[in-house]
Amino acid sequence: LAFGVRVAIDPFARARQLHLQLRYHADRYYNEDAPVIGDGQYDTLLQELRRLEVQFPGCLNPDSPTQRVAGAPADGFTQVEHPMPMLSLANAFAREDVEAWHRRVTDLLDGQSFRMVAELKIDGLAVRLTYRDGRFLLGATRGNGQTGEDVTHNLRTVRSIPLTLSGRPPTDLEVRGEVYLPLDSFRKMNEERERLGEPLYANPRNTGAGTIRQLDPKVTESRNMQMWVYSLNDTGVAPIPAGHWECLQNLKSYGFRINPLNRTLDTVDEVCDFYDEMLSRRHEWNYEADGIVVKVDSIAQQNSLGVAGREPRWAIAYKFPAERSTTRLLNIIINV
Ligand code: NAD
Repeated sequence: LAFGVRVAIDPFARARQLHLQLRYHADRYYNEDAPVIGDGQYDTLLQELRRLEVQFPGCLNPDSPTQRVAGAPADGFTQVEHPMPMLSLANAFAREDVEAWHRRVTDLLDGQSFRMVAELKIDGLAVRLTYRDGRFLLGATRGNGQTGEDVTHNLRTVRSIPLTLSGRPPTDLEVRGEVYLPLDSFRKMNEERERLGEPLYANPRNTGAGTIRQLDPKVTESRNMQMWVYSLNDTGVAPIPAGHWECLQNLKSYGFRINPLNRTLDTVDEVCDFYDEMLSRRHEWNYEADGIVVKVDSIAQQNSLGVAGREPRWAIAYKFPAERSTTRLLNIIINV
């Protein structure tokens, strides 16, 4: 490379190597709650694999980390099947990616226009909550997207999760959202550990995920976990509103915590303005966000767009530039 010599790398061998690396890092991140590389680096490896799979379709197999939601339900928890898979999101890293997504959606909708809802992409742990007759029945992690862990006992201690709903909720209700460890709680925990001379926790995301995925609800309660709810699932039992925005307003009236920064938008320019504003404000909040999520508002349009692999076609995550450095992660002993 130093003298302009190109080294030919076998794309199939490189794809295999990337599979192994990504699987290892996904296991550390999702199952151990203890990553060893930064999210930016993980996303770069995943993007390289994606590009290889587009360029050399023979590299693509159903087990590829680009095709599956990573993570596995841990021992010690009852496993629960998700009635509807809990998916991942396609990523955008620049305005052009958002433009390309918007064009693709317009084409798939035969040129119809569509309204969008933009939200913060909260860097926490995805969970699904089930309510029956207005009462909290079950809370589960995303796991591998098909099967998650029953963490109801821990989620019952999260104060922003209503145990009994207000307003006029349907008999059967399923919502999804992100549970997270507030930054002030995280800082307090690390100050205490520093005082005791104990190794510091690496980051709020993995400490929070570990807090929900441990067996003692007293530990969860003591850490003041919080939740933002970002979707109402269509269980097919009760009718749901025609648009995602309206679903969020309904969820708010039932007592769920809905992020007040959510906004409806009509154009890519508005999406980019929202992104710039959120990026400049990312240090104002008591939680971490790693980007914004843009969703097609109409549920009918969402249904007609459907899913590609592990990602709904009707949503895209526009990621903020990564902030955590590997060195920092490697220098801190990761522990829950
Ligand atoms: P993703 O980036 O594909 O996004 C899907 C997730 O976004 C959902 O499951 C949901 O939990 C979350 N989300 C947050 N706010 C949302 C909102 N408003 N609406 C809808 N969904 C929302 O998720 P992923 O595939 O689990 O990857 C998550 C991140 O994990 C990536 O940024 C990746 O870098 C990181 N990761 C890091 C490592 C590592 O070793 N550092 C390993 C694996 C994954």
